[in-house]
Amino acid sequence: MQFHHHGYVSEDPRVLPADGVGLNPPKELPEKVDVLIVGSGPAGMMTAAQLAMFPSATTAVIERRDGRLKIGHADGVQARSVETFEAFDFAKKITEEAYRITETRFWKPDPDNPENIIRASITDDDPTGISEFPHLIVNQARVLDCLREFMANSPSRTAPFWGWEFLELTVGEGEYPVEVKIRGTAGEQEGTERTIYAKYVLGADGAHSKVRQDIGAEHIGKPSYHAWGVMDILVNTDFPDIRTKCIIHSKAGAILHIPREGGYLFRSYVDLGEVPEDDNGQVRKTPLEEIIKKCNEILHPYSIDVKEVAWWSVYEVGHRVTDRFDDVLVEEAGTKQPHVFIAGDACHTHSAKAGQGMNVSMQDGFNLAWKLGYVLSGRSDPSLLATYSAERQVIAQDLIDFDSDWARRMAASPGEDAEAIEDFYVKTAEFPAGFMTEYPPSLLIGQGKQDLATRVPLGKRFKSAPVVRVCDATAQHLGHLHKADGRFRIYAFADGEQGSCPKLDEWAEWMATSPDSPVNRHTPKDADIDSIFDIKVIYPMAHRDCDVTKAPKIFRPASGPLGLIDLNKVFATDVDDPIQGFAGDIFEMRGIDKGGAVIVVRPDMYVSHILSFDDTAELGEYFAGFLKDA
Ligand SMILES: Cc1cc2nc3c(=O)[nH]c(=O)nc-3n(C[C@H](O)[C@H](O)[C@H](O)COP(=O)(O)OP(=O)(O)OC[C@H]3O[C@@H](n4cnc5c(N)ncnc54)[C@H](O)[C@@H]3O)c2cc1C
Repeated sequence: MQFHHHGYVSEDPRVLPADGVGLNPPKELPEKVDVLIVGSGPAGMMTAAQLAMFPSATTAVIERRDGRLKIGHADGVQARSVETFEAFDFAKKITEEAYRITETRFWKPDPDNPENIIRASITDDDPTGISEFPHLIVNQARVLDCLREFMANSPSRTAPFWGWEFLELTVGEGEYPVEVKIRGTAGEQEGTERTIYAKYVLGADGAHSKVRQDIGAEHIGKPSYHAWGVMDILVNTDFPDIRTKCIIHSKAGAILHIPREGGYLFRSYVDLGEVPEDDNGQVRKTPLEEIIKKCNEILHPYSIDVKEVAWWSVYEVGHRVTDRFDDVLVEEAGTKQPHVFIAGDACHTHSAKAGQGMNVSMQDGFNLAWKLGYVLSGRSDPSLLATYSAERQVIAQDLIDFDSDWARRMAASPGEDAEAIEDFYVKTAEFPAGFMTEYPPSLLIGQGKQDLATRVPLGKRFKSAPVVRVCDATAQHLGHLHKADGRFRIYAFADGEQGSCPKLDEWAEWMATSPDSPVNRHTPKDADIDSIFDIKVIYPMAHRDCDVTKAPKIFRPASGPLGLIDLNKVFATDVDDPIQGFAGDIFEMRGIDKGGAVIVVRPDMYVSHILSFDDTAELGEYFAGFLKDA
C-alpha cells in the first residue's frame, strides 16, 4: 500500500484523498448523472466501486431495497474474484472471515447396501495450482459490504441511494440522452416518482431485469424443469464430512453440500427432482420441512438435527443468456454508440451449483467500469464502450454451456458413477475458478508476440508471480501490486542485468522523452506522469546488486503535490522468502525471453499486448487505437 505521497496520512490509509465529485458528494439523488446504475448486487457494486476511482465522473447507484442485503443469494467466491478483491485491497479481510475450500469429497450409494451412502473419493480443490488465491465461501452480503466500503473510501466517496426503484427508460438525444423514470420504495421518498437524466445507464437489476426489457434484449435459453431446495442451516449431525465440500449422490437423490464461514453454518442444495412443464412454480411452495426430510433421506444412514435455519429457498434452474449486453442492436453494431448496458443476472442466468453467478457478474462490472471511466474522463472515445458487449457476451455463453453440463451431471441419477463426476470436476476446475476467460484479438487485445512470454497468455488475466522490490528488499507478488485504480500496467522485463541491458535503456528513454510514446501522447499535461500508465521494470538479477537510483527515470516517476519520486517500481528476480512462501524466478515461471519483453496489462488485469523493446511503433499504435491524445 502506497501513501503519504499526497502529504502525511495519520489515519486509515485505505481512506483515499477525496477528489472531484468526492469533494462535495451529493446527499440526494441528483437529477443529472454520468452513470446511473440500477441495482446494488455484485454486478452493480463492482461497477460502482471501479468507477469510484474516476472522480471526474458522477455515478449514482439506485436500489429498491431500503438498505444492504442481509442474507441469502451467493456464497461461492472463486479464486479469480479473490484476485480481483486484492486489487480493491480487501482480499485479506474477506479471506479472514471466509471458509476456504481445499478439497471436495464425493459420496455415492454403498454397493453392498445401496440404501446407505459411502465416501467414494476425495479430490483437492485446486490440484494444479491454478491460482495463489483461495476458493472461498462467504455470504454475498459481506462481499457487497466490502465493495461499499471501498466506494466510501474512494476519491469519489460514492454511496448507494437506497429505496429507489427503476420503472422505465427511453434513450433520446443530448448530453444526458437517457431519461429514466424511478419511484421511491422506502423512507421519505416512498411513492414519489422522479425523472433522472443520465449519459449512461447500467441495468444490474438481476434475473428479471426491467432495463433488459426496456432495451429489448432477448433472454435466450430454456428452463431446465429441475428444482432445488437450498438451506443455510445450523445442525448437529453424525455426518463425518459436514465441514468439507461434498457432492453426494444417493438412491434418494443428490445434495451439494457447502460448509460456510464461521465454523458451524453450512449450505445444503437438496435435489427436489424433475418438475412437470405445467408446474407453474408450484414446486416453489415446497415446505422447509419437506426439504429437511429429503436431505435426511439422501444422507442415510447419517442424519441432521436442525437447530436453526438462517435462510432457505426453492428455485428452478434456467439457463439463459441475452443476445447483447447493451442497447445497440446486433445489426447496428459499429454504427451506433451504446448508452444503456446490462450486466450480471440481467444478462445470464444458470444454476447456483457451479458457484458462478456472483463471480461472473462482478467480472462483467469490472470489464465495463474502466471503459466508462476512460470515456467519461475524456481519455477515450465512446467507441471503446462497444467492446464490453463483444467481450462479455461470449464469456456468458461459455458459462451457460459449462453450467448446463454441470447441472445435468449434478441432477443425474445415482447410476452415473462418482468417478465420472469427479473427473469432470477436476478436468474443468480452471473454468469455474474464473481463469478460462480469454478475450480474442481486438481493439484492446493486440496480436502480440506470445513467444516472448510463453506462459503469459494474451487475452487472459495476468497470472502473478513473485519478484523482489529492490528499494526495500521485500518479496512481492507482482500482480498483487496491480490495484483497481483504472491504470494500465506496463511491465518491462529487462534484456540483462542493470548496466548491461541496452535494449531496455533505449526503450525507457523513448518512453520518457519521445512525443510518440504513449506516456507523452496520452497523459494529461496537468496529471501525474504515471496517472494512466504504471510502468515497472524487472531485472534478471539479485536485488542487492541492483541500484534503484540507477534505473531509468521512467521507472522512478515524480508524482503527487509534493513531486515525490516513486522508488517502488524497480524489481529483481532473486526471490527466496520462506515467510511468505515466495520463491522462483518470474522469467522462468512465465517463460519470458531473456532478450527482454514488454507486457501490457489492462486495468481489469487482462494481458493486452506482448512486444519486444524494438516494437515502439506498435506500442504507440496500440494505445492510439483507443486513447485520445492528451
Ligand atoms: C440460492 C442462490 C444461490 C446462489 N449461489 C451462488 C454462489 O454460490 N456463487 C455465485 O457466484 N452465485 C450464486 N448465486 C447467483 C448470484 O446470487 C447471482 O448470480 C448474483 O447475485 C447476480 O448479481 P447481480 O448483481 O447481477 O444481480 P442481483 O444480485 O440479483 O442484484 C440485483 C439487484 O437489483 C435490485 N433491483 C432489481 N430490480 C430493481 C429495480 N427495478 N429498481 C431498483 N433496484 C432493483 C435488487 O433488489 C438487487 O439488489 C446464487 C443465487 C441464488 C438465488
